[in-house]
Amino acid sequence: MMKEKQSPLKLVVGITLGITVLLVALVIVGNMDSESNESTVENHVPIDGQPVLGESEAPVKVVEFGDYKCPACKEWGESIFPQLTDEYVDTEKVAFSYVNVLFHGEESELAALAAESVYQQDPDGYWEFHKALFDEQPSGDHDSEWVTEEKILEVAEDVPNVDTDKLASDIENGAAMNEVNKDTELVNEFDIQLTPTIIVNDTVIEDPFDYEAIQTTIEEELEGNE
Ligand code: CA
Repeated sequence: MMKEKQSPLKLVVGITLGITVLLVALVIVGNMDSESNESTVENHVPIDGQPVLGESEAPVKVVEFGDYKCPACKEWGESIFPQLTDEYVDTEKVAFSYVNVLFHGEESELAALAAESVYQQDPDGYWEFHKALFDEQPSGDHDSEWVTEEKILEVAEDVPNVDTDKLASDIENGAAMNEVNKDTELVNEFDIQLTPTIIVNDTVIEDPFDYEAIQTTIEEELEGNE
């Protein structure tokens, strides 16, 4: 008789334990999900007409929205970009593009216009100019004016196939302004709020300095392409 009285209690305890275990499991799974906070955008960023580093037909496209006046972009270029290049761009798994963001006013615009003009003259030399211009960003007082036409021409002098006289007149005439405006349209379309913003296919990397998150997203996209 005692056994019969105890069993409903055991059943209740058993069910409670079961529910508790299930809830704990759900919380754990939920937390695992929230570990990758990456959000997605509706479409891939269209990169036609943009500078492309690596194999343009690579299965994964990584786009940086950056600003030559932005200190975090310089830091990203020095810390994360070389790893990304070694592991994925040089191995033809990723095509990398850079889109100009003009969050720091006239100097951002001048730098973007110059870079687009260099790209029009010498698509291969563009990346050399790109890096050399970021190298000129002062590490201390980056708010002080440093993007000047003089500085740009000095940087461009070292890029082999760039005619600096043509570059000077292209800058003065705003010859590549259409390209700068096209980038601004992308900034608006993809609602870019921070620089650098890194988008891998259609995934916006929450923390651009989290290289593992970038790796994970690229690997997932590569698997999806197999
Ligand atoms: Ca562009």
